[in-house]
Amino acid sequence: MAEAAEGTAESRAGDGGEIGGEDAGGLWELPVETAVRRPECNRCRRPQKVCLCPFLPVHPLNVSTYLYIIQHPAEENRVLRTVPLLAACLPKDKCQVKIGRRFNEDRDPELSAICRNSSTLILYPGEEAANLEELAPNLPNCPSNIIIIDGTWSQAKDIFYKNSLFRLPKQVQLKTSISSQYVIRTQPTNRCLSTLECAAIALSIVEKNDDIQEILLRPLQALCSFQLQHGAQIHHSKEHLLKNGLYNKPLPKNKRKLRKMELLLNNVKI
Ligand SMILES: [Zn+2]
Repeated sequence: MAEAAEGTAESRAGDGGEIGGEDAGGLWELPVETAVRRPECNRCRRPQKVCLCPFLPVHPLNVSTYLYIIQHPAEENRVLRTVPLLAACLPKDKCQVKIGRRFNEDRDPELSAICRNSSTLILYPGEEAANLEELAPNLPNCPSNIIIIDGTWSQAKDIFYKNSLFRLPKQVQLKTSISSQYVIRTQPTNRCLSTLECAAIALSIVEKNDDIQEILLRPLQALCSFQLQHGAQIHHSKEHLLKNGLYNKPLPKNKRKLRKMELLLNNVKI
């Protein structure tokens, strides 16, 4: 039951705030157990009983790109995290995780230098963002840096807009049509990918190697199928639920939230 409950009782802070969060109730209101941690596997950081190492590559992937994951502090303590799996698949120096909400020149000279480097890209969607697929053929072959923000939508937005450093690198987005395979956490839309999926796709594009995506997504697929076998429910995105008439929570009374639901239904990017 311990494993079965993992994941199902979770709700992203951002989800709750977006649509109908106040009606979530039930399991989601249970306090998160942090005091007693089960023994963790050193490599994948999963509880030892559900270690995902058999699904990780035997040797770290040989990539030339340096990934910098900017992780919101709330993300670090979540039970189901995808970044440790990503880090376990890559050489240590190629995947660095920086935890925090505010970054600046004085406190983070190394990160500042990365942001000022002309071969650094930041993955954050928006009108200003270039599509990575279209940009990739013109990228130089020399190692580049990719910054990815790990957190809920609202956490990522806060980090991106409140740190001027992150607007220095070239902004890119993934124009991908794949739906998230990370079905055990509700995503706001079908196109909202987990940090691991974003990294897998971005790396396979810039490294021009589709195998990277397949190898990096393998542990995520294993994680999802394990969770589903042990009682987790598939969490379709709110977009999927709304469009298929499956959204069974009362409609929000708040006009702003109602408007957001309308936008989701009409395919407007929010
Ligand atoms: Zn492991």
